[in-house]
Amino acid sequence: MQPRDLSAHEAYVPGRGAEEVARDLGMDPEELTKLSSNENPHGPSPDAVAAVEAAAPDVNVYPKASHTDLTERIAEKWGLDDSQVWVSAGADGSIDYLSRAFLEPNDDILVPAPGFSYYSMSARYHHGDASTYPISKDDDFEQTADSILSAYDGERILYATTPHNPTGSVLARDEIRELAERVDEQTLVVVDEAYAEYAAEPSAIDLLAEYDNLAVLRTFSKAYGLAGLRIGYAAVPTAWADAYARVNTPFAANELACRAALAALDDEEHLERSIETARWAREHYREELDVPTWDSGGNFVLCEVGDATAVAEATQERGLIVRDTTSFGLPECVRVSCGTREETREAVEVLNDVV
Ligand code: PMP
Repeated sequence: MQPRDLSAHEAYVPGRGAEEVARDLGMDPEELTKLSSNENPHGPSPDAVAAVEAAAPDVNVYPKASHTDLTERIAEKWGLDDSQVWVSAGADGSIDYLSRAFLEPNDDILVPAPGFSYYSMSARYHHGDASTYPISKDDDFEQTADSILSAYDGERILYATTPHNPTGSVLARDEIRELAERVDEQTLVVVDEAYAEYAAEPSAIDLLAEYDNLAVLRTFSKAYGLAGLRIGYAAVPTAWADAYARVNTPFAANELACRAALAALDDEEHLERSIETARWAREHYREELDVPTWDSGGNFVLCEVGDATAVAEATQERGLIVRDTTSFGLPECVRVSCGTREETREAVEVLNDVV
């Protein structure tokens, strides 16, 4: 049997790791500062590291069914029923669960352009397809229900990202309400809050009490600093509860990740410090960079630099990895993550020098 021909589909282009870049440049990875993947510059919570160490001797045992403790803890945090929490391997895992649960072959989803590419990739893995709505530079990447619905044609899933990657723009709660109210009955509105901890706007999770066509994605990869462990979740309406058992990969989230996430949720000091640093850094970029930038609710700032590929290469030669957003459809911009104060100041210096 021939494997499915995926050649017409885009490939996932993640930010490159410091080691790969260092190898190409003949540099020591230690000489590089990586501000290309919106990781937490403070690392994981020390309590999360201790929890992983404590759980490591028991990894011969399967994780708990449905990741019970973590599910309960997340449900309690948001005032949800346990059945409304779908723990997954990163928010990416939740995107796959949603595709599996709701997409029939040839179903369309609606996604932002520019935007995070995995929504459409996941839909295509499930034999669906994606249409896009614009988040336009001409409008300073503003997001509203009107702008999103301008391209809406009854798609099965509508993804909205807030704060948005790579622009940083935020979708206000009232706009989310409006989306849930205005879409047709068959459409699920999925709000991706991967960067929500950094924004001033509260989570849309409490809106699940009012709307049964709304889901929210969250992750431990960003503000909680656990990207390498791959742990996230979807908060879904009660009406979807029994779908998880049908789409869940058995033991998708590993026990070390679950233990770390539980410890990270309890370490509010680490979370606050991470948020505070990111908020300082994004203001610092906006004030100090000599190029146009946009207001960001996330832990990164989009910068208009001209030829993004040339600029990203030039910063790499100076030891700074930033994200060239050409693959997002913005070949004139780079996205720079919020580092520690020292890393952020250095990044400003390098970017101002090379642009
Ligand atoms: N959504 C958005 C908008 C993202 O930028 C990312 C990661 N870069 C994800 C989801 C996936 O995050 P993870 O799978 O690490 O939880």
